[in-house]
Amino acid sequence: MSGEDKTKTNQASGANGKAEGQHPTPMLDQLEGGPWPSFVTGLKRLRDSTGKQYAPMMNDLLGQLEHSYEERTGFWKGGTVSVFGYGGGVIPRFSEVAAKFPASKEFHTLRIQPPAGYHYSTDVLRQLCDIWERHGSGLIAFHGQSGDIMFQGCSSDAVQPAFDELNEIGFDLGGAGPSLRTSTSCVGHARCEMSCYDEVKAHRTVLNEFMDEMHRPALPYKFKFKFSGCGNDCVNAIHRADFAVIGTWRDDMKVNQEEVKAYVAKAGRKYTIDKVISMCPTRALSLNDDDTIDVDNKSCVRCMHCLNVMNKAFSPGDDRGATILVGGKRALKVGDLMGTVVVPFMKLDTDEDYQKLMEFGRKLMDFFAENALEHERICETMDRIGLPAFLEAIGVEPDPNMVNHPRTSCYVRTDDFTLEADKYFERKAREGGLDVAAE
Ligand code: SF4
Repeated sequence: MSGEDKTKTNQASGANGKAEGQHPTPMLDQLEGGPWPSFVTGLKRLRDSTGKQYAPMMNDLLGQLEHSYEERTGFWKGGTVSVFGYGGGVIPRFSEVAAKFPASKEFHTLRIQPPAGYHYSTDVLRQLCDIWERHGSGLIAFHGQSGDIMFQGCSSDAVQPAFDELNEIGFDLGGAGPSLRTSTSCVGHARCEMSCYDEVKAHRTVLNEFMDEMHRPALPYKFKFKFSGCGNDCVNAIHRADFAVIGTWRDDMKVNQEEVKAYVAKAGRKYTIDKVISMCPTRALSLNDDDTIDVDNKSCVRCMHCLNVMNKAFSPGDDRGATILVGGKRALKVGDLMGTVVVPFMKLDTDEDYQKLMEFGRKLMDFFAENALEHERICETMDRIGLPAFLEAIGVEPDPNMVNHPRTSCYVRTDDFTLEADKYFERKAREGGLDVAAE
């Protein structure tokens, strides 16, 4: 908030900075002092919106938050709130200090699925805001950690009418609890030249198939799909999704040597060597005397660095598809984990390819539903039973591409690795490319 805006807020709040009936918030006020936008400023703006029905709610919400900071205790408890026909999607929050802060005694959150690729029209965004001003607090988070639009702050009575209006304009509840969670996909091929498959199509094909698992929680714990079009992984699929679909290519990357020369002429040879060539994790790049670049495509691990820095000179190859990784997640029991490569390359071109992706997702979900313990993510199941048993259960052959850093791992004996690599290349040649889901 700029100094001028802060002055305006104070003037609106009266000479002492606090209008009649407003809770004092000295500790929260300190959060507005830094250089970054503060959520407290946003809450105050809603509290000070004259004539809005949610202003008292936001005043009491700020009061309760200040009280929490004083007591160093959270005062929200859960419960059961839902909409007709659904078993999840609403996060209930009831205040334990409702007597002191009655206007915010119920402050539920509606999780609503965003459009694939986050493609909104401004008209739809305005409709969403209007609905939430009518039924809720006016506070919306685009987007939560699972990708949902988080409509925050709603009384129990208003949950159903708010959902009905959102549903009327085409939106549906997302996942909460032990169920399939709301999915996300990056902005994708509509706007990004690095995109290696149709993320929006993959997202909708898979999620539409599993809507039941999202709306009626029946899994041992949460399960998330995420779709990124390339290794930049803009939706953080590798470390946030149980089933990550990340775009890649298996032929040689495309190099425009004229653009390489133009880049070197502008940035200089030293800069190009320091910031591009030597930053390649597998030393797959070399700068020639004539300012062109050679790429050792067999060594390239598709980290995307050179494509990002020299985006006119390098682009993904023509034989595009996706890698599927299973078992990424944030903290909780065994700490943060990255997904494990389970399908090194899956072609995603035709409708049948997308059906295969969906069927493979079904296989994984069935395995998870039948074998995971209560409150166990799929990576923890994999950890418990071991990767070989997991691969056998889902019908996938072991593959050298599943080994992290095979060249430096002391657990990979060179003779075994060579044997497995030979088997892999034999199979690849036999099939004209690896497509494990089809096996
Ligand atoms: Fe090296 Fe990454 Fe470029 Fe591949 S994408 S050549 S690994 S910098």
